Amino acid sequence: MHLYEFTALQIKEKIKSGETLAQEVIKELLDRIKVKDPDIGSYLSINENALSKACAIDDKIKSGQTVGALAGIPIAIKDNICTLDLKTTCGSKVLSSFLSPYNAHVVECIEKEDGIIIGKTNLDEFGMGSTTEHSGFKVTRNPWDLQRIPGGSSGGAAASVAADISFLSLGSDTGGSVRQPASFCGVVGLKPTYGRISRYGLVAFASSLDQIGLISKDVADTALLLQVICGYDNRDSTSLQKDVPKYIEQLDSIEKKFKIGVPKEFFANGLNEEISKSVNEALDVFKKNGAEIVEMSLPHTEFGVAAYYIISAAEASSNLARYDGVRYGYRTQNCKNIIDMYERSRSESFGNEVKRRIIMGNYVLSTGYYDAYYLKASKVRTLIKNDFDKAFEKVDYIISPTTPVPAYKVGEKVSDPLEMYLLDTYTIPANLAGIPGISIPCGFTNNGLPIGMQIMGRHYNEQGLLQVARKFESETDFHKIKPKFNAT
Ligand code: GLN
Repeated sequence: MHLYEFTALQIKEKIKSGETLAQEVIKELLDRIKVKDPDIGSYLSINENALSKACAIDDKIKSGQTVGALAGIPIAIKDNICTLDLKTTCGSKVLSSFLSPYNAHVVECIEKEDGIIIGKTNLDEFGMGSTTEHSGFKVTRNPWDLQRIPGGSSGGAAASVAADISFLSLGSDTGGSVRQPASFCGVVGLKPTYGRISRYGLVAFASSLDQIGLISKDVADTALLLQVICGYDNRDSTSLQKDVPKYIEQLDSIEKKFKIGVPKEFFANGLNEEISKSVNEALDVFKKNGAEIVEMSLPHTEFGVAAYYIISAAEASSNLARYDGVRYGYRTQNCKNIIDMYERSRSESFGNEVKRRIIMGNYVLSTGYYDAYYLKASKVRTLIKNDFDKAFEKVDYIISPTTPVPAYKVGEKVSDPLEMYLLDTYTIPANLAGIPGISIPCGFTNNGLPIGMQIMGRHYNEQGLLQVARKFESETDFHKIKPKFNAT
């Protein structure tokens, strides 16, 4: 077995015990990235200092010093999370040479615990998209079928874990960008409760929805990384002052009896039959293990996509106003006056999807339309949150498919943004309500594409999600099956 095939937790144990050197892991991984990533396109940059960091960890271990919880684990970071040593481009030409003057909170946490940032991964520009085709630099491909998209916007992050060219990765999830690519790539993706992980150093797309999320090979690896990056940070005003449970230690201490709600709106028209079948079979696994399955309704689900695209575009148009060619980023070489400079800098550097969101955002916020669109969408958001609050009085978890269709072909939907937006139906509600959601592998289509199941829970109950997900993993083998691409 190659080192890159182990999970993060396993590789850490090997490094800590002295069985394997951290530098061996990094060397093997860097070689593999060189061979494999040209086909996938996960990475936008590679950390040149990774090997020397690994050597420093090996020295620490050799001399008997204690090492951190992530000792020697190579971790990939979505390129909208700030790093001091590597460029943070957000997948945009606007920031193609941007070097952040500070590390994001999560990066600080990882480095403090001796994790190694291996590189920065590709994304749809500023996180806007569902396929990673909207990156300003390159398209990322799905290791299960190179003709297909890996999902998005954290497509680079998810594909890197699926292809065994990273052990763990961080993404961001505004409307599903961690769970959806995790589902398309057959890996685990967690979006924690809003405020659970500090957004300090995450470049803002839609601040009231954005949350840093985790992508991993199995549930235990997510628990391992969550333990390190979760918790209060006074540099993010929305950060929660809540105790962080012992995720790893309590992973298997699941309560005996729990109730799973199955919302009918998430199994309605438009859901691929093979996905529906897999998720229903997954529900049977829980049933056999003593869970009570309850059919229920989240009546405002159908308005989620519309509300999300109004609110997120509104916030994006305001957040992206800062890229004016003066304070940050790209500036045109060729302009007549200052207004012309703003206009040219922005129009020459933003991609079409980002421009679409800016135009939409400005429209819904403009005088005369604010009440009709933005205010209305905010009210719908409250209704959706209330649906969940009511549901969680009766059930402990809600299970649904993560996506209505499996990974589609590169280029297939790129010219129909509305169709693409509609495919976010199942992931968006958790962002609007601020609740946690995890996507785990639960099957394959007949043509071998991964299927993901989403488990949502009450605010702050990441612990419960991990336990339920782990229970499923212990009863099934879907998470152990790897793409053929990995072996060749
Ligand atoms: N696909 C959604 C969008 O395009 C979600 C993006 C995200 O979660 N960052 O907005």
